[in-house]
Amino acid sequence: MSEPDVGSYRRPDNLAEALTLLDRRPASVLAGGTDLVVLRADGTVDRAHDIVDIKGLSELRGISRDADGTLTIGAATTLRELAWTTVVPPNAITDGAALVGGWQTRVRGTLGGNICRASPAGDTLPGVLAAHAQLELASTTGTRLVPAHDFFTGPGRTVREPNELLTRVIVPASRGASAYLRFTYRRAMDLAVVGVAVHLEIENGRCVAARVALGAAAATPVPAPEAADALVGTELDKPSVAAAAQLVLNTATPIDDGRGSRAHRRTVLPVLAKRAIGIALERAREGHPR
Ligand SMILES: Cc1cc2nc3c(=O)[nH]c(=O)nc-3n(C[C@H](O)[C@H](O)[C@H](O)COP(=O)(O)OP(=O)(O)OC[C@H]3O[C@@H](n4cnc5c(N)ncnc54)[C@H](O)[C@@H]3O)c2cc1C
Repeated sequence: MSEPDVGSYRRPDNLAEALTLLDRRPASVLAGGTDLVVLRADGTVDRAHDIVDIKGLSELRGISRDADGTLTIGAATTLRELAWTTVVPPNAITDGAALVGGWQTRVRGTLGGNICRASPAGDTLPGVLAAHAQLELASTTGTRLVPAHDFFTGPGRTVREPNELLTRVIVPASRGASAYLRFTYRRAMDLAVVGVAVHLEIENGRCVAARVALGAAAATPVPAPEAADALVGTELDKPSVAAAAQLVLNTATPIDDGRGSRAHRRTVLPVLAKRAIGIALERAREGHPR
């Protein structure tokens, strides 16, 4: 019996070496491996590809905030580090990180892995969209910044080229506050049936800017601009919030699948949106920026 064709395992010492390896032959990037191992086992990812393990690259780890308030998160930062960070107050991205799997998954799984897996149900993705984050992609020829809302092209698909590595997630400074909520049938170890992230900026009791993004509501995570626009200019009173929350349905095109029906998803989305707006508002009033 012949051995299956399995690619080599490489653990580069630095980012430059990792990029050279990715340039040389088709390779799979391994961060925490909590998705990749499963994808290789079920044949979704070709096992003949080499593995380039980026988990140990210190250049890709860490969470920092510049003097101007810009937040930078290394792609190989674990979801646990992100969920527990004190660099920024709780927000839609950290809420998403805290909800992924169980703690065993979060100590291995990374933000970059969650983003590059590009599952429509990925829990950090709506927060990344609502934050208007930029995704830094590096290759041997240089780096480019892709706005998060241009990154995802379909379930499991992104604009990342095979020789590129997601290196950093850059979140612009903001005076706002945000929150992410998801609906699952079980309390843990379940994927989102739907998820909603909300970012609000408030001045003198009035909403001056808002962004809403949905997870598991379309083939990719999607912004819900009509819902966001409906919040702007209001005092975020109950009727305004309820009306805006209903407008998420203008963006949502959910499917029927094993985790939920289209009809149920459309029933849950406005309720979730209303609650996420409420949490973001509470955080904004407490003075939690972002
Ligand atoms: C038990 C269990 C429960 C889970 N629950 C959830 C959940 O509730 N919510 C949720 O969203 N996810 C969940 N997941 C999925 C998974 O844990 C997350 O998507 C996690 O964030 C993946 O990160 P990782 O570092 O392990 O990625 P990996 O498995 O290492 O990689 C995932 C994909 O991204 C690519 N990749 C990784 N990093 C980079 C990079 N820097 N640049 C370019 N490509 C890269 C890999 O090549 C691969 O295609 C669960 C998984 C398991 C096993």
